[in-house]
Amino acid sequence: MEPSVVEKVLVDLIRSKNSGISDTLNEQEAELAKIDCTDRQLGEWLEDFEISIVEILNAPDDYFHSRFPELKDLDAESRAQLAQDILEHSQTCLHCRQKVALDQEFEKLVDDLFESNRDEIKGRLYSEGGEI
Ligand SMILES: [Zn+2]
Repeated sequence: MEPSVVEKVLVDLIRSKNSGISDTLNEQEAELAKIDCTDRQLGEWLEDFEISIVEILNAPDDYFHSRFPELKDLDAESRAQLAQDILEHSQTCLHCRQKVALDQEFEKLVDDLFESNRDEIKGRLYSEGGEI
């Protein structure tokens, strides 16, 4: 998927404010690749959706089925069980535990940058024709 204008502006900003960040992220990814996930089937959910998959799975039927029509056979009870399994896996699997921690760290970094550079981001989005 092509990154959106907002993503591009954010990535530029992260690089300009914190020049070591790309290296740090690459190193962390490399570290992560050395640890094997103990259950790929559960791990893939975290790979694709990060830890927010637990919330998505626990969402009401309407919301879930409109977002994932291809998973229409997954009823609320099975989803709750799957969410529980994924949550447990994210705490017991070394790979996934570290991945969730990294995702959260990155998210916080982006949030902080966004907060402290709101005006600059807005200005650049306007000049690049993006919309917030
Ligand atoms: Zn795992």
